[in-house]
Amino acid sequence: MLTRSTVAESSAGAEHMLREALEANGQRFTEQRSAVYRYLLGTDAHPTADDVFTSVRGQLPDISLATVYKSLETLVGCGLAVKLTYGDGSARYDGRTDPHPHARCLDCGAVIDVPGRLDGAALACLGPLPGFAVESYRLELVGHCENCGTDR
Ligand code: ZN
Ligand code: MN
Repeated sequence: MLTRSTVAESSAGAEHMLREALEANGQRFTEQRSAVYRYLLGTDAHPTADDVFTSVRGQLPDISLATVYKSLETLVGCGLAVKLTYGDGSARYDGRTDPHPHARCLDCGAVIDVPGRLDGAALACLGPLPGFAVESYRLELVGHCENCGTDR
């Protein structure tokens, strides 16, 4: 099984994984989708579509923001990326697809991965939920990042 780190080390591995997932979902492999996917795998910054556009345009000068946006949505639809959405309508994208907690800065919007994960016992602390089958979780810590000032 290919993990994120082994994929990031090998662009051939990433391309293979992308081709298989696109094919399984009836989608075509394109250079644009490949560039967007490789960028997502290589960053843990949880970029916005604009961030991805700015970076990928360096390699593919003709790519449009609309194409970047559609590529991101295709990757999410194929299970290769996760879309993090916020109440203000903004969104960020994550190439890491296993359930993991995030911390989000209330000032600048930066999103970072939190080390560790909640196990079954920790989830059980949230209490029984009769009639609801828990499958996964989304957990977000909110606060202030080191750039914005943690000493308040
Ligand atoms: Zn911040
Ligand atoms: Mn993440």
